[in-house]
Amino acid sequence: MSIRRIAVLAAAACFAIPTGAGAQTGAITIRGAAALDGRGSSIAGATIVVRDGRIVSIDRGAAGTPTYDLRGLTLLPGLIDTHVHIDTHFGKDGRATTQGETPQQSMLYSVENAYVTLMSGFTTVQSIGSPSDVDLRAAIARGIVPGPRLLTSITPVTENSGTLDAIRAFVRKMKADGADLVKLFASKSSREGGGQTMTDEQIQAACDAAKAAGLRTWVHAHSPSSIRAATLAGCTAVTHGSQATDAELRLMQQHGTWFEPNIGLVSQNYLENKARFLGIGNFNEEGFAFTERGIPMKREMFKRALAVNGLKLIMGTDAGAGAHGRSAEEIIYRVQVAGQPAGAAITDATSHNAMSLGLGDKIGALAPGLEADIIAVDGDPLKDITALRRVVFVMRGGRVYRNVAPPGSSPQR
Ligand SMILES: [Zn+2]
Repeated sequence: MSIRRIAVLAAAACFAIPTGAGAQTGAITIRGAAALDGRGSSIAGATIVVRDGRIVSIDRGAAGTPTYDLRGLTLLPGLIDTHVHIDTHFGKDGRATTQGETPQQSMLYSVENAYVTLMSGFTTVQSIGSPSDVDLRAAIARGIVPGPRLLTSITPVTENSGTLDAIRAFVRKMKADGADLVKLFASKSSREGGGQTMTDEQIQAACDAAKAAGLRTWVHAHSPSSIRAATLAGCTAVTHGSQATDAELRLMQQHGTWFEPNIGLVSQNYLENKARFLGIGNFNEEGFAFTERGIPMKREMFKRALAVNGLKLIMGTDAGAGAHGRSAEEIIYRVQVAGQPAGAAITDATSHNAMSLGLGDKIGALAPGLEADIIAVDGDPLKDITALRRVVFVMRGGRVYRNVAPPGSSPQR
């Protein structure tokens, strides 16, 4: 079926709701060529029934006329990115600095980032993190500003957060301020070599205090020692892990630590936009040399991670300025360049990500009882993972935010 035909049918179906069967039952039905359920199963000719924002059923075949006839498209659960920086953007001068910006201008950039993220099929993201996330999260939750379900760590714990008691107090303050998780900077930036910064005791104190407060912990760690310390401290997830050896990969597997490598978007984005970053903070020529050398190193590390049976891989991008709305590139890179099977890469970005966020019973799969976060892509991502670039339908919590596909062209971001 042509894209134009789909759009016309969907529009007609919308207008039909008040008098159709859907209105009597309050149900919305979505028919796709196939549905990938986010847990490794594929259902041909799937029809999903949604009521009151939740998935009621998902079945093979269809009875009657669906509200949204997407039978040329593949249905998936809304994608999840466990690591973005939703507030980051290029400013007035086109550079990655917010100098001279008012708080209102900064917030509008965040709103734009939230919008492009949702339109690209990501219905939940974890921002790691910024104080402005709290107000953005509240605005999106009010249901008018379109954006993904947003989780945030607000402000991170670092080696400069003070004594062990001061760190524990800081974690409790993050909880009181509304944090969904705690971010730890346990190592330097990869542009500065990635060596461990927080002591083992500081890492332990932060992760213990977070656990006591009911918060998860995400640990920025590049060097082997920082990955080991985070894992042994019982922290929830290690992010980056660029210098992980087989020993650290196995240690994370043994401890059930979620591992979020970032191999396909963040470094590439820095290099593509080098002129916009160069000269700001640690974005100097030496740092860029680290970034360039890091790309093949991270790719090889990821291949070794794939070979560790039972290692709990998740999908996060570390998306910053220039990368918002392009989170799917990480999944595509994992499949096309690093050799992860497409089905596994999609499961990581959906149900595994949801579990790592403590939301496995709410989002991340097409299954009865879960939130109706449903997207449709043009193509079969199991055969061509780049179909994830062609998101033409986005529903979050039962509300349709996107149902457009200009005829004969790729959808606009
Ligand atoms: Zn980050």
